[in-house]
Amino acid sequence: MKKVISIANQKGGVGKTTTAINFGAALAARGKKVLVIDLDPQGNASTGMGIERSSRDLTTYDVLIDGAPIERAARDCGFDGMKIVPATTDLASADAHLMTSTRRVMHLKAAVVKGGYDADVVLIDCPPSLNLLTINAFVASDAILVPLQAEFFALEGLSQLLLTVKDVRQSANPRLRLEGVVLTMYDGRNNLCRQVEADVRETLGELVYETRIPRNVRLSEAPSYSQSILTFDPTSRGAIAYRSLAGEYLRRTDATREPENA
Ligand code: ADP
Ligand code: MG
Repeated sequence: MKKVISIANQKGGVGKTTTAINFGAALAARGKKVLVIDLDPQGNASTGMGIERSSRDLTTYDVLIDGAPIERAARDCGFDGMKIVPATTDLASADAHLMTSTRRVMHLKAAVVKGGYDADVVLIDCPPSLNLLTINAFVASDAILVPLQAEFFALEGLSQLLLTVKDVRQSANPRLRLEGVVLTMYDGRNNLCRQVEADVRETLGELVYETRIPRNVRLSEAPSYSQSILTFDPTSRGAIAYRSLAGEYLRRTDATREPENA
């Protein structure tokens, strides 16, 4: 059964795109067919997965606004077992177009449900905002994975995100649940990092993944070589962490947890 996961946090630079690419690659390495939908006008996931800007003919914008079939927009790339629906900067204007539609929050869901594409896991790389694009992602998703950087205001941002999740669950998508929170750019030598981690774990309990993604420069280098960390530097701490995250995710889904956040 196809599972659709939004990778979301309204804060920029917390590791959403890095997680979409490398968590996706680690799932693909475990035999899952993975589709990444780039929902950020910055198009970082598309670039990191090696899709040249000049070759982005059919994009997330076309899928959302013009009803282009997602299986036509999904492109092969140099990543084994993964495809990507690329984004360009014109996605920035999609919000205004959606606003004029009566089914404005349903566009992505319609595309994802109708789509005749072949994927076990669909990862939606969300923009750094809680705008209509992100709401479209939440309506289309089974679950949300939140990369969280352990820093001072992390929990405040998270409660705003959870309110949006609750709204979407009540209005348009009752099956939406919080898949989990993964700490990113973690530095165990930093006191604040450890303190924030303790707070987050106390507040959210087992929704927080055991796996922490460490700050690892190899993770920031891999996209410029159009590679995942798994092929770029398979023994790096970043690669070990993303493989561990995929393993933990698969164990959790196999255990078929009940939704536990109301
Ligand atoms: P977002 O998609 O949330 O804006 P990104 O995944 O693009 O965040 O990450 C922001 C920047 O930090 C990028 O330059 C990325 O390469 C870098 N980065 C992300 N995760 C890590 C990490 N664990 N260690 C080091 N650099 C990272
Ligand atoms: Mg991003």
